[in-house]
Amino acid sequence: MPDVMRADLWHSMADAAGLINADGTIGETIYGQMTALATRTGAVNLGQGAPGTDAPAELIDAAADAMREGYNQYAPGQGFPALLEAVAQQRQRDFGQEVSAQNVLYTCGATEGLTAAILALLPRGGTVLAFEPFYDSYPAAIAAAGGSLVTVPILPTPEGGFAPDWARFDDAVTAAESVPSIILINTPHNPTGFVFDAEDLSRIGDAAVAADAWVLTDEVYEQLVLDGTPHVAPAVAMDDSTRVVTVSSAGKSWNTTGWKIGWVIAEPEVREAIQAVKQFLTYTASGPLQIGLARTLSGDSSFVTDNRTSLRQRADVLVPACRDVPGVVTSTPAAGYFTVVDFSALTDLDAFELNDLLARRHSIVGIPVPALCRSGSPAHEAYRSSIRYSFCKSAADVDRGAQLFGDLAAELTRDPDALRGEY
Ligand code: PMP
Ligand code: GLN
Repeated sequence: MPDVMRADLWHSMADAAGLINADGTIGETIYGQMTALATRTGAVNLGQGAPGTDAPAELIDAAADAMREGYNQYAPGQGFPALLEAVAQQRQRDFGQEVSAQNVLYTCGATEGLTAAILALLPRGGTVLAFEPFYDSYPAAIAAAGGSLVTVPILPTPEGGFAPDWARFDDAVTAAESVPSIILINTPHNPTGFVFDAEDLSRIGDAAVAADAWVLTDEVYEQLVLDGTPHVAPAVAMDDSTRVVTVSSAGKSWNTTGWKIGWVIAEPEVREAIQAVKQFLTYTASGPLQIGLARTLSGDSSFVTDNRTSLRQRADVLVPACRDVPGVVTSTPAAGYFTVVDFSALTDLDAFELNDLLARRHSIVGIPVPALCRSGSPAHEAYRSSIRYSFCKSAADVDRGAQLFGDLAAELTRDPDALRGEY
């Protein structure tokens, strides 16, 4: 057969995502690897951000009804009008973003929306500025578009929160050799839970105007702000909303990560450009699920609010249990699915080694935060021994995780050097 290495795009994408192993083989994504580690060791899987609680019955019923009503063939390329309308209304209702159906494009999850937007809007050789740590699909999509990635770290603050390194941001947006064509913002941010406020966003909006850049957003955790501060939609906070391309999805808000219903919101001609790419990736997907979500989004379901409360309760079980481990620094997340635990005072091991050790000895698996960073970057260094734990899992898994952290705390109280030395 022809040599698979004859074409290099797939390899560049995997390489950009850090998936090429030392021996040249291709690794799985960090989420797949850590799920496999949990299965292999029988550990509790606090890794991948996949909810352990159910999708709402009313949504499942609405999708089942749509299937029975015959919505089983291709949906229109832009998405079913009912979904486009429901998303437009939801943005207006929840975030005050003025949107009409012609601004909205259905995508197969936020992942396809982000990739299609990057492919459509990034000039060849162009730069994307993103905050780090970042979601693993970003560098792969940028590599596919023939561009490069410049990152600005989001770092722990002495007050126990997180903040972007604004001095680096200011340098990065003005550096002559890498003026960004796209500034990519993930708010609320995975994995730190940092929520960009209106002032942060307006600062980024001004920088985008100065650089003549697009602002591409990733708002998949928009409904999961846990500390009462509002999620501010970048398109609302920025003076020039025409350059903002909003991306979000239903997976996290409605516990339907497997349905892959996402959307892009942009000026109609920008939406058309992104649709031109998207239509040759999937053309369309999830037809009856689009109808089910449209009906539920525009109905009176209290699921989103109830789910947020339930998530906060699970966070309130896991986060204090992590914090009780003597010597670690545990984040109280403002939003999202995750807490970040910094073990650096307790161990010389890096987060990958430590995660492996904790899986084998303590039956706990998370996601090493450096996997979401670029090797050698300031963020990579800052999170060298930090692990992300998901509290979106079932109450039983979260309880078990809390108990296992209790056991670890007890061991470290007896022997403060338990995580040092032999790996
Ligand atoms: N962005 C971030 C920050 C994520 O955590 C995820 C994971 N859900 C995605 C994008 C992908 O979203 P989707 O499953 O809708 O493609
Ligand atoms: N978004 C989820 C996370 O960050 C996982 C998505 C995936 O498995 N690709 O954990």
